[in-house]
Amino acid sequence: METTTVKNRNEWYRLLPKMDELLAQDWAKALIDIYGRTPVMTALRTGLEQIREEIPGLYTKEELMDALKLYPAQVRKTLAMTNERHFKRVHNATGVVLHTNLGRAPMSKKLLAEVTQQLIGYSNLEYDLNAGQRGERYAHFNERICAITGAEDCLVVNNNAAAVLLMLSALGKGKEVIVSRGEQVEIGGKFRIPDIMDQSGCRRVEVGTTNKTRIEDYAEAITEETAALLKVQTSNFKIVGFTQTAEREELVALGREKGLPVLEDLGSGVLVDLSRYGMAKEPTVQDSLKAGVDLVTFSGDKLLGGPQAGIIVGKKCYIDKLKKHPLTRAMRIDKFTAAYLETLFCYYQDLRVAERTIPVLRMLSASKEELKDRAERLRALLLEEIERNRQVYDVHVLPESESVCISVVECESAAGGGSLPGETLPSYGVRIEGPRLHPDQVTERLRKGDEPVILRTLDGGLLFDVRTLEDEELPIVADAVARNIP
Ligand SMILES: *Cc1c(COP(=O)(O)O)cnc(C)c1O
Repeated sequence: METTTVKNRNEWYRLLPKMDELLAQDWAKALIDIYGRTPVMTALRTGLEQIREEIPGLYTKEELMDALKLYPAQVRKTLAMTNERHFKRVHNATGVVLHTNLGRAPMSKKLLAEVTQQLIGYSNLEYDLNAGQRGERYAHFNERICAITGAEDCLVVNNNAAAVLLMLSALGKGKEVIVSRGEQVEIGGKFRIPDIMDQSGCRRVEVGTTNKTRIEDYAEAITEETAALLKVQTSNFKIVGFTQTAEREELVALGREKGLPVLEDLGSGVLVDLSRYGMAKEPTVQDSLKAGVDLVTFSGDKLLGGPQAGIIVGKKCYIDKLKKHPLTRAMRIDKFTAAYLETLFCYYQDLRVAERTIPVLRMLSASKEELKDRAERLRALLLEEIERNRQVYDVHVLPESESVCISVVECESAAGGGSLPGETLPSYGVRIEGPRLHPDQVTERLRKGDEPVILRTLDGGLLFDVRTLEDEELPIVADAVARNIP
């Protein structure tokens, strides 16, 4: 008996399909169209290898036939898994508009669609189509930025940290730059103003104290060696109580008197007066330039709502110096950023259009009625999905006391991204709670799902703040949540 089985098994190996036979089959050809020949061959071979290894443990030929029947599906699954992208869209139900871990400013579908058309194939990135000669990559948006901010000139580099480093390197290297002790801040991700100042090669002269710096402190510190006065927007924390800072106007007057440029790192560069949306007034880029600051730097992907970038606006004589500095070439933006910025600033020409189009502004300016309506729609979709899942999977209905409770609640969202410290915005969300609900477990499952949803847990329940969810995301979120709650 024993010998026959082994002999039979040896024959079974001959039942395994050959590679050329497999490649001639329609399902394999279809996979090659999607994934290409080499990955498909690798997956086919791996799958066969697995079946081959299983043969010694099989008892009947039927078992082998079953394994071969499952083989195409197995190959498909392997290919889908190896082809899965690590970089994914996630659904942000935290209510934090500028979430540093979630890519800061969300990108706009509309803007991306427009920009994609410009980026396919070649472009006039550095080509002047009128003159038929070399052009500048900054020419696409310079005039627009200047028109909106009121600046004489501008320059854009990779991010705001780079902008600050460039500004200090070009104007302060080997000389002294005066800054208040109250503004020697850490922004996050280990970006510290004092480190950047040291890196630029300027000598850091700190004046005043943590809570108080007067204009006289700057005046007394000025020497022959002083190159500039630096102001930093302390955008991620608040010092309250016995405090004082020198006003922009005072710094500008002092700079003018001594012939020194006043530089400002504005951090979250906002172009819109946020008090329109019921938030505290954050100085706008225009305010800073109007006060006479010579160079202002700010981020592209914070409150501006654009791509990662460091935008420098101000006096032409200083921008010219920055343009000539070798670091500028090392920090230059790519074509995606150039195209996205031009389109973004086009929409900024009309505030009402900007509020409708740019996701950050749309989220910050959303009215309470709008948010409440969206939360109610999310709740309705959720109930629908849960009911549908019950019917499909024939799950028995839990008694009232054990099932989850889904309600629309008021909550607080935040601007985030190190902007508007301590400020929250009244918002609406959907809250889910129940005796059989394990918030941490559901949160983890939603995070690891095909359509990852990031949310907050609150007092033993789940909270989905709808401020940071677009309408088109509601059905996706409802589906993911319905599949993951008891
Ligand atoms: C965020 C921020 C930065 C860094 O900007 P990135 O665009 O992230 O490089 C620098 N300074 C201030 C004050 C900031 O708030």
